[in-house]
Amino acid sequence: GEALAVSARVAPLGSRLVLLLVEDLTEARRIEAVRRDFVANVSHELKTPVGALSLLSEAVMDASDDPEAVERFAGRMQIEATRLTSLVQELIDLSRVQNDDPLEDAEPVRVDELVAEAIDRCRHQAGAKQITMAAGGAADLRVWGNRGQLAAALGNLVENAVNYSPARTRVGIAARSVNAPGGDHIEIAVTDQGIGISDKDKERIFERFYRVDPARSRATGGTGLGLAIVKHVAASHGGEVTVWSAENQGSTFTLRLPEAGAARDRSHQQPARH
Ligand code: ADP
Repeated sequence: GEALAVSARVAPLGSRLVLLLVEDLTEARRIEAVRRDFVANVSHELKTPVGALSLLSEAVMDASDDPEAVERFAGRMQIEATRLTSLVQELIDLSRVQNDDPLEDAEPVRVDELVAEAIDRCRHQAGAKQITMAAGGAADLRVWGNRGQLAAALGNLVENAVNYSPARTRVGIAARSVNAPGGDHIEIAVTDQGIGISDKDKERIFERFYRVDPARSRATGGTGLGLAIVKHVAASHGGEVTVWSAENQGSTFTLRLPEAGAARDRSHQQPARH
């Protein structure tokens, strides 16, 4: 209704302007819809594990004279708690990312620290699935950026690699420095031997809330926000995230970020001029 009213008002000004205005309105509505969806989605996702935990704890109390049942319920409680943890982690990441200017408190960040933190974040899940994690090349490399956001980005990639891989496979994290005319940068590649992603889905996985298989994603605590966060962090650092994948063979997500070099370090030490 509103869009139509606007187009009627400005119609005499020419159809191109009308089109622009209508597109603007649609975009504003779309963003608002995404925001509403986000709140509804996350609250809904949080309710499920909380409800399950409450029921399970009652079941444990009722089954206090049946050790086998207690063990079974406790196991399920652990799964629900993991889901809850990963949802909360995603909310934390999201709040880190909503910071307006991520580069305001940019600093040289050691890649081996980011890698260690990412591995730590899914140690529990990887252990349960007997997934081997191997990291290499990160020693002595430093990227230039916001530490919290970079940790969120790499953490999400490694978490996905573990989530979308079968048991007893390998997840590799390889970092290297690339000298390029536009500026030196760091590439961090996260490779898994998991389910892979079809060409059709590859185009959409970086969108907010997009999940190839919602049921599977939910079972691992996924909300479909992870890769949107990664893409946002990469872009706001002047970098990029790309994906290579073959179905049922695995995927490699590569994060390209600016390298912290001498020039950047020097400008960092000068007082900021505003
Ligand atoms: P989610 O919270 O669902 O993991 P993401 O935004 O992190 O959300 O990922 C979006 C979708 O992309 C996932 O639901 C999954 O279908 C697919 N995906 C992401 N990473 C991988 C991977 N390493 N292997 C296979 N599929 C993946």
